[in-house]
Amino acid sequence: MKSHTESEENYLKAVFSLLPEQSDEQGMVHTNAIAQHLGTSAASVTDMVKRLSDKGLLVYKPYRGVSLTLAGQKIALNIVRKHRLWEVFLVEKLGFSWDNVHDIAEQMEHINSPELIRRLDTFLEFPKFDPHGDPIPSETGEIQTRETYRLNEIKAGQAVTLVGVTSDESNFLQYLDKLGLNLGAKILVTDRIPFDNTLQVQLGDLQIMLSGKVASCLDVMKEA
Ligand SMILES: [Zn+2]
Repeated sequence: MKSHTESEENYLKAVFSLLPEQSDEQGMVHTNAIAQHLGTSAASVTDMVKRLSDKGLLVYKPYRGVSLTLAGQKIALNIVRKHRLWEVFLVEKLGFSWDNVHDIAEQMEHINSPELIRRLDTFLEFPKFDPHGDPIPSETGEIQTRETYRLNEIKAGQAVTLVGVTSDESNFLQYLDKLGLNLGAKILVTDRIPFDNTLQVQLGDLQIMLSGKVASCLDVMKEA
């Protein structure tokens, strides 16, 4: 397989992660959004997207933005797959906490050995989700979906299970640890304060308050 530079792979991954939420009606992501996401200048984004479009990995329309070609999407999915498998490995086999693995996985995701990843997947017994609850794409690029909601959308009286977090930021994850909010936690929404969207929830025997912002970063599934 032809290999790509780390930087090229990071651009493809950035476009892939921005597409679901930041694309326009034509499914294009604006180059400014990419620049912001990667913390780089618009000019260097333009250079890189031209290069990636020459390689057939992106479709680039000046002033409009970019989308992924099938080849580009395949590479992005593979990087995401490797990233998430390494995160599972770091947490489950090396005992890292979930707030400490993202930056390490950012480096490990660029190791280019399909055989290594196949063996890693087997060693981990084919996990479907990473330690943050994000789905791990299969070797052929399929992503398992499930019906999740953000906790801030949940009405009082509804019981839910925490299945994912939408932020990898360590201070956020450490805060969840402090509250005892781990993946799999059973939560009952007991009250909502309309003024600022604070949620009162029951977690085990505890009643805790969650800000609307924190609740909006928690993916949950409804209990029957
Ligand atoms: Zn990560």
